[in-house]
Amino acid sequence: MMDIKTITVVGAGTMGHGIAHVAAFAEYQVYLVDVSEDVLASARAKIEKNLRKGMELGKVKEEQMKAALARISFTADLRTAASAADLVIEAVPEELPLKQRLFRQLDELSPPDAILATNTSTLSPSEIGSVTRRPHRVIAMHFFNPVHIMKLVEIIRSLDTSDETCAAALAVAHHLGKQTVLVNESPGFVTSRISALVGNEAFYMLMEGVASAEDIDRAIKFGLNYPMGPLELADLVGLDVRVRNLEYLHKM
Ligand code: NAD
Repeated sequence: MMDIKTITVVGAGTMGHGIAHVAAFAEYQVYLVDVSEDVLASARAKIEKNLRKGMELGKVKEEQMKAALARISFTADLRTAASAADLVIEAVPEELPLKQRLFRQLDELSPPDAILATNTSTLSPSEIGSVTRRPHRVIAMHFFNPVHIMKLVEIIRSLDTSDETCAAALAVAHHLGKQTVLVNESPGFVTSRISALVGNEAFYMLMEGVASAEDIDRAIKFGLNYPMGPLELADLVGLDVRVRNLEYLHKM
């Protein structure tokens, strides 16, 4: 089994800062990379705020908070961060050409046996891995927002992912304290595909005047025991992101 000690997270936005937080808390050395210094500064502030909240709730000790923050290097220097990585988790925006360009760079910069993971919510890990010379070491690790609270990591093996890579990704996710599911490459995996279906049905109901947006959400929340209604979830995800995901699933 591969020994993973250093995790490099690329993209320090909504998902990237959360992944860096849970990785540092689980005692991995972490590099958190972004092209924007402002994003890096705000990622640091958000991680600290969430750890402090954990302290108030009695889940995090002060030493753990300090140690976790000290384990993260916030940087715009992809070269240094990638070259130190045993595992890279990419969390840049959901655009295939952007992710492929980055994976080509990561393939150049990171050690030959490092695993390259994508946090894509819909795109194909096979297509992303195909631009590298190590497609058997490419996999999707799909985290959920907010990462430090949500329990699942959906692991998607591409057509080329090796058993060893799968085992290593599962082991890291378990070490982060997450539940895992292993999914074969298929558009939308399990979660994004079901979520799109439920969301679309809610959009149709709203359009048909079946009920108000608030009541559709309340029905699903209190009647079906979802933590959040499908329409408020779509707002949280962002309608621009949702429509892009739906267009992609529609094409596939
Ligand atoms: P985001 O826009 O909040 O963050 C993306 C970050 O990537 C930005 O800070 C941007 O500056 C940075 N970036 C762009 N190009 C870069 C590059 N070449 N190198 C380094 N950094 C770069 O996006 P997000 O919501 O965190 O989503 C990231 C990924 O996670 C997407 O693939 C998305 O589909 C997936 N995802 C999102 C959610 C969610 O709820 N937001 C949930 C699961 C998966």
